[in-house]
Amino acid sequence: MYKIVMLGPPGSGKGTQAKFLAKELNIPAISTGKIFRDAMRKGSELGLKVKDRMDAGILIDDELTNQIVKERLQQSDTVNGYILDGYPRSIPQVKFLESLDSITHAINVDSSDEIVMKRIASRRMCKECGANFNILFKPTKVENVCDKCNGELYIRSDSKPDSVKERIATYHEVGDPILKYYREKKLLVDINGEPSIEEVWNEVKDKLKI
Ligand code: AMP
Repeated sequence: MYKIVMLGPPGSGKGTQAKFLAKELNIPAISTGKIFRDAMRKGSELGLKVKDRMDAGILIDDELTNQIVKERLQQSDTVNGYILDGYPRSIPQVKFLESLDSITHAINVDSSDEIVMKRIASRRMCKECGANFNILFKPTKVENVCDKCNGELYIRSDSKPDSVKERIATYHEVGDPILKYYREKKLLVDINGEPSIEEVWNEVKDKLKI
């Protein structure tokens, strides 16, 4: 069974690889960032609570994030495994996850700051359905129009340069201890996130032997 956490800086492509893995292994990819963004789009209580921090690229507090993950992992589609994308993002989250379940792999999709800055700046997202695109690597058929639902595309508020810098700085501060933790537990799988999406995917498949 695969119970995977995806680690690596924002923009490293870990979300894309999480989706590939989900399809290949037939288990859900769960993105805490997406759960928060969907809540914001719906204007729910959770969405209103997280909006300011999300917009500024600041992490949501551990207690709330842990609760969201706990509830999500109780859903029946996770019985054969799951992939967590964007969680855990702090040592308290690591410890909380450990109290819930034993993960099998921590995949570290790494990339230089320079590359992730460029990738994030070219990201676009659909206002209507939340689909992701990238003007450099995954452009839409018609400029600024979602391929899936024809919705209008926008630049995520936390993809603006100041927020990106904040997110990368936070990543280094809290991400390094998390990598160290999983490395010591012999669960860490290092992946170079800099080549093309396909090359990265091949390395993931090789290293996981799938
Ligand atoms: P992401 O889509 O993973 O880049 O996450 C976008 C934003 O969602 C982050 O900048 C945080 O504000 C919030 N977020 C997502 N996952 C977490 C987490 N595990 N802990 C705290 N905040 C999170």
